[in-house]
Amino acid sequence: MILLFVSYYGDVILSLKAVHKEVSLRCYLDNLTHICLGIISWLIVTSYETFSTNYFRQSLLCGLFAGLIDVDHFLMAKSLKFKDAINLSSRPPFHNTTLMMAFAGCLILVMHFKGYELMENFGWYILVASVSHHLRDAQRRGLWLWPFATKPISFPYYLILSYVFPLAIGSLLKILNKNIIKVKYHDVLLV
Ligand SMILES: [Zn+2]
Repeated sequence: MILLFVSYYGDVILSLKAVHKEVSLRCYLDNLTHICLGIISWLIVTSYETFSTNYFRQSLLCGLFAGLIDVDHFLMAKSLKFKDAINLSSRPPFHNTTLMMAFAGCLILVMHFKGYELMENFGWYILVASVSHHLRDAQRRGLWLWPFATKPISFPYYLILSYVFPLAIGSLLKILNKNIIKVKYHDVLLV
């Protein structure tokens, strides 16, 4: 329900005339919507367990990563101006779903075998945050599953995928018995 509410009203606000013509305001609100959806996505991941404030802290980190993905617009534009950042000739690298999934997957595996649990947690946050961000953007531009690209996805598909993916990650973490979702307070602070 919250996912539906934030996704829908985030886009409604962005399409308002006053917001639409104000580029910087539109960018801030768009990014804020990504952050909120990243937070909700991690809450879905942890929905198998009884709620604790640690999950909320983890969700904030996931939301932060979901928002940071758009930094690549500025890196690619080599400019800090919103106008340059949104007028790129091609999609910037952090919006490549294959790349981000491979990066997060490698981080999870390498850190798991090295025993760096906190860094491994980062991999899970980045994975969930990237997919949340990319699915929302995919309503306009499709998913960039390099070397392929899909057509834009409809709002109902977006909602289903945005709910099912974190739910699947949550059940995977439960099957793997990962204590990322049983993480202790000081671990969250260190992360
Ligand atoms: Zn984006």
